[in-house]
Amino acid sequence: MEIKITRNTNPAPKPDEDNLGFGTIFTDHMFIMNYDEMEGWHDARIVPYGPITLSPAANIFHYGSGVFEGLKAYRRKDGGIQLFRPEQNAMRMFESAKRMGMPPVPKEIFIDAVRALVDIDRDWVPHSEGASLYIRPYIIGTDPTLHVDGVREELFMVMLSPSGSYYKGGLTPVRIMLETEDVRTVRGGTGFCKCGGNYAASNRAGRRAEELGFSQVLWLDGVQRKYVEEVGAMNVMFKISGKVVTPMLYGTILPGVTRDSVIKLLKDMGYPVEERLLSMDELAEACDNGTLEEAWGTGTAAVVSPIGELRYHGKSYIINNNQIGELSQKLYDELTGIQWGDRPDRFGWTMKL
Ligand SMILES: *Cc1c(COP(=O)(O)O)cnc(C)c1O
Repeated sequence: MEIKITRNTNPAPKPDEDNLGFGTIFTDHMFIMNYDEMEGWHDARIVPYGPITLSPAANIFHYGSGVFEGLKAYRRKDGGIQLFRPEQNAMRMFESAKRMGMPPVPKEIFIDAVRALVDIDRDWVPHSEGASLYIRPYIIGTDPTLHVDGVREELFMVMLSPSGSYYKGGLTPVRIMLETEDVRTVRGGTGFCKCGGNYAASNRAGRRAEELGFSQVLWLDGVQRKYVEEVGAMNVMFKISGKVVTPMLYGTILPGVTRDSVIKLLKDMGYPVEERLLSMDELAEACDNGTLEEAWGTGTAAVVSPIGELRYHGKSYIINNNQIGELSQKLYDELTGIQWGDRPDRFGWTMKL
């Protein structure tokens, strides 16, 4: 793919790597490409990072036609840069777009765009421990009409944001609240897509949980409100009597790249993994009788996030004495080791730039 490059003649100073936070600082460049029915995907370009102009009628503003992805570029100890399973994100964005009736971005275009943009802003990939360059590819519907009959014009964009380690003082267990009022999605809906609408519908519950001192909500299935699904932006896993149980993918849960990677690592370590329906009642019982040994969330941002407490109908279920579990720590160490290039990439997951 040919990408026209317009360099930023006024590059920003690099931020202090010790106070990066998440998603507030952006690099010098961004990638943009247009889609319309006449020309298909065309006009791939890298331009200085900055505001864009859209019609006030643009589809995204009214009907929410938008999908996105999240992945990272990691700085290796030898100074090189690598991506982690980017083809998985390319495929998932393809599927998300299809569900939303939006013309998808071919996998090769996605990978080329990400590689080219990270390469041009490679000095922005942080060097400090645990920090990385967060990559946000997204597609928005830009048809300049209020028609509700689908999307015929789009922008595919990629932006980059250096982000700090999710855990400032090492891994810490989080408190999670079961959400019993709102539901995130149902089968046949958009739960398996990374689309903005899912997040818009989740904000209220997230806010309520935060006000009560919890870091995120754990969603229950939208029909019986019985089976656990996932937390805000992480999949969940539970170690019960030596086995790892995780909610199965049946259209309501985001198929996380971290989830898939952790399942492969667990199987490789010899742990039995069950992907199935898992009710909160079963978890409560396992917690009460001492067989719920560990719980953790998985996602690109936090990698593996130990869960120390679940609150359900006013009752607290404390897991592993609110301590980081042995297996959670092991998975975190192994996965971050592969991502930053400190441990052997036995599964061929990394792509060097
Ligand atoms: C992105 C996301 C995840 C985690 O997916 P990864 O590919 O592991 O980062 C989990 N749940 C939701 C709702 C998400 O948006």
